[in-house]
Amino acid sequence: MPSLHCPLIYSGLYVDFSALQKENAVIYSSCCLMDWTSGHNSTKLPISEDFWTNEYFNSIRELNKQNVWSESCGQCSKLEKTNKPSYRQTTLETLGYVSNLSGPIDLTVKLSNTCTLMCATCGPVNSTVWQTHMKKYDMEVSDPSDSWYGGTVGTVSDINTHNFFNKLNLDNLQYLRFTGGETTTDKYFQFIEYISTRCDISNLVVTFQTNGTKLLPDKHFQLLNQCRYVRMSISVDGTEEQFNYLRQPAIWDEVSKNIQHYNTIDEFQISIEQTISIFTLLDKHKVELMAEELGIEYFEHYAFGRYSLAHLTDKYIDALDDVLLKYVPVEDRTHQEIKNTIEFLEWYDNSTGRNWKITFPQIAQFYSDYI
Ligand code: SF4
Repeated sequence: MPSLHCPLIYSGLYVDFSALQKENAVIYSSCCLMDWTSGHNSTKLPISEDFWTNEYFNSIRELNKQNVWSESCGQCSKLEKTNKPSYRQTTLETLGYVSNLSGPIDLTVKLSNTCTLMCATCGPVNSTVWQTHMKKYDMEVSDPSDSWYGGTVGTVSDINTHNFFNKLNLDNLQYLRFTGGETTTDKYFQFIEYISTRCDISNLVVTFQTNGTKLLPDKHFQLLNQCRYVRMSISVDGTEEQFNYLRQPAIWDEVSKNIQHYNTIDEFQISIEQTISIFTLLDKHKVELMAEELGIEYFEHYAFGRYSLAHLTDKYIDALDDVLLKYVPVEDRTHQEIKNTIEFLEWYDNSTGRNWKITFPQIAQFYSDYI
């Protein structure tokens, strides 16, 4: 049996401060892809001295040593079982085999879920605009991943982040990724300043997952220039009108200009990250083509929840070519789930004044039995 070694299980840490206000606790796991329902744990602040070797981490590391998939790693196990590349495999190429570390090499931090957008495939867990919208329309939280919704509006205080990280050995840190909410805010730069007191940032690769609606202010460049390099990972789902629908209220012309501008900055590596959902699968090549024309890296990840590929219809699958057919998940699709997806979509359109059937006419045909 091939090795299932995942370096992130031994050297990765994902910390989400956005539920802190409600739970007075920080949510954490080994990586941001671990399943919400079984892969995350929480701890009160300040953390204990033995946090890095606590029962939770030890149990998933022990399982990985025995070459057994953890229930929390469903994202990777499902992909690998169907011969699709997984995050575990990508990370293995970068980090290699690791074990017995005194602290994380790879740290992903979510300081806040404050965002300026309410993207269709996102939700209240990661966007304060989504939270406000759902409250305005008195909408129940109905997606399983939304059950982690902490209800926090705003950002965590420095005292709380320091309370967490002061007790953690950060000597090994090489990769710092920011996820949100939108991450190009002062709060995240203040956090890099703090991190620079805890490790050698000239070894550090800093990644901002950003919606690309705003350019970084020049005042932050001096700090970023001290890092090994900076990667701007810009979320782009679709192009033109489809982008405008999926990433409301972002505007394609502005974001595409910002991407071109970032691409002129020598110190930055730019990549485009596309969420593959029922909306984007069919035309995903348009975003890939854009990345190719700009000479920048293209990455993609699968949507969770309502618009995931688990909700493709038979008509949709019949229309896919061999390349796209490889994206179709093996698990059974239920008619009721697809019905729920379309019902939610109708609510979304009614409450935002949009019409998905006009923006995605071909895809709407695939769902004609449910509309
Ligand atoms: S979800 Fe994948 S990448 Fe993350 S810890 Fe599990 S196996 Fe590793």
